[in-house]
Amino acid sequence: MHLHSNKNLGDGLRADKAFQYFPDPSPAASNDSTSLEPRPLAPFLRSRVLEHGTFGVSHTRVPTESRPGHVALIAGLYEDVSAVTTGWKLNPVNFDSVFNRSRHTWSWGSPDILPMFSTGAVPGRVEDATYGTEFEDFSKDALELDYWVFDRVKQLFKDAETDAELNARLRQDKLVFFLHLLGLDTNGHAYRPYSREYLNNIKVVDEGVREITELINNFYDDDETAFVFTADHGMSDWGSHGDGHPDNTRTPLIAWGAGVSKPVTVQHGKAPGHEDGFSSDWHLDHVQRHDVAQADVATLMAYLTGLEYPVNSVGELPLPFIDADDQQKAKAMLVNARQILEMYRIKEEEKMATEFRYKPYHEFATAEQTVDHRIEAIQNAIQDGQYKQAITSSDELIKLALRGLRYLQTYDWLFLRTLITAGYVGWIVFAFTTAVDLHVLDGSVETSRTTTSIATFTSIVVALYSFLFARSSPPQYYAYAFFPLMFWEGVFARRWALVEGKQKLFAQIGNNDGMKLGLNCVLYIGILEVMVSTEATHRFKSQRLTNLRRFKATTTAKFTRSAICSPRHGRSFTAKISFRRTGYYAVLGHVLVLP
Ligand SMILES: [Zn+2]
Repeated sequence: MHLHSNKNLGDGLRADKAFQYFPDPSPAASNDSTSLEPRPLAPFLRSRVLEHGTFGVSHTRVPTESRPGHVALIAGLYEDVSAVTTGWKLNPVNFDSVFNRSRHTWSWGSPDILPMFSTGAVPGRVEDATYGTEFEDFSKDALELDYWVFDRVKQLFKDAETDAELNARLRQDKLVFFLHLLGLDTNGHAYRPYSREYLNNIKVVDEGVREITELINNFYDDDETAFVFTADHGMSDWGSHGDGHPDNTRTPLIAWGAGVSKPVTVQHGKAPGHEDGFSSDWHLDHVQRHDVAQADVATLMAYLTGLEYPVNSVGELPLPFIDADDQQKAKAMLVNARQILEMYRIKEEEKMATEFRYKPYHEFATAEQTVDHRIEAIQNAIQDGQYKQAITSSDELIKLALRGLRYLQTYDWLFLRTLITAGYVGWIVFAFTTAVDLHVLDGSVETSRTTTSIATFTSIVVALYSFLFARSSPPQYYAYAFFPLMFWEGVFARRWALVEGKQKLFAQIGNNDGMKLGLNCVLYIGILEVMVSTEATHRFKSQRLTNLRRFKATTTAKFTRSAICSPRHGRSFTAKISFRRTGYYAVLGHVLVLP
């Protein structure tokens, strides 16, 4: 099996910039014709693509931020968006990762990222060397961040020359070296991706990766190391990221070394994988391109290093990257399927324990479609040497399992959406009632509650809460259930304002004066709108934000949001939501995210 893997990550490196040709961006370059001639900025990485390994575009999900990107790459899971807002360094929940599965991981880079993986891992297993936060200061030359990392890696292997104990540790199997290179992200934010600074940083990263690759190959001298180069997210033309723009979601993935397939090339025309035209100016048309989803990279790393897949990984092993025979591939895919199905099994058990009448995912519902039945069929295929068939079936099963997980995850949504919709509609009607009371009737209407109405609303609260309690619902569900009742109770108490307001309105406009009625309506909607925009600029707690994100409003509420990075980039987020009338809904990231 393969011994080690070395993973290099260019934070904020968008895919096209890693491969396109540009004039020499280095500060030393003169302005003569030779340096103006377009050339690849990353000749070493390009040589891996052309002669040594496999490449493609790794597609990230939104929000395209460092934290979720790293979690997807290293743990194989797409973290709940709320993690972006609930603290940058601390994990809301500790999670398993490729690092945690390794014998030992050495990681170098930003203090914003690395502790996420060392915290919560088996003690002593994941080592992180980070520079100080002040070193990260934007005004400094961001290249220093990358030089710092490369220098530390070199130092480690230099120390091993004299430190016998370290040397022995470095020669064990299942090791991971992780280099987090923040320079590109910092330069991208400061100067944008077309700048000389950003492009020159790509050169520096390429040179560093070349040196480290040589250093490691020389140290081990056994060709048992796999290398993976990728990025957590891309960078927009205006130097930002966070949203789902393709410039932010497309990152390069290049793997080479032990266990990785050699490039598949064609003599004439275009090799498969370039159909979307995205890579048309990379001068790599003859090399097959294999795109992956970001979490697949975690699975790939685990496989190449000979590790178990992280428990919550939803990554699918990208077979084209793997140099193995069909039997090995078939077995690896089956393990991959089982690992994802295990998550499904546990989540289904949890659901069954709390649901009154649990409805299983339909694809696994009938006797010959059960998970066990499907796995048995794959095992039989492998035994009979039908590896291709086994791979196809495992692939299918993984997709079903992922859809099943999604089914379980969204199981409550209809119920939640109903509650939240009732809450928003209630809030709008409540606001309208109050507006009519204040502006049309001059606040003359008293609120009126009857014993029956109080008893009715109270018993609805009790019934709903008992229902939530019986299902072991999380605390915020109680709030979702409370708001609609609170607003509708308020509307009920002021119901006379609606009745009187209507009479007054009709009295004012006289007989069948539709024109005036229309104008009045416009006026009242205007009043409502003013109230909405002034009153409803709220700061939302992250958890509510997350759930709001999932809520496609059927009401007339629209939320727009601007997330503001605090002065120190990405350290903390403040979410601001303002309600607007019409259409859709919420989100997270630097900009709007519409699923
Ligand atoms: Zn950034």
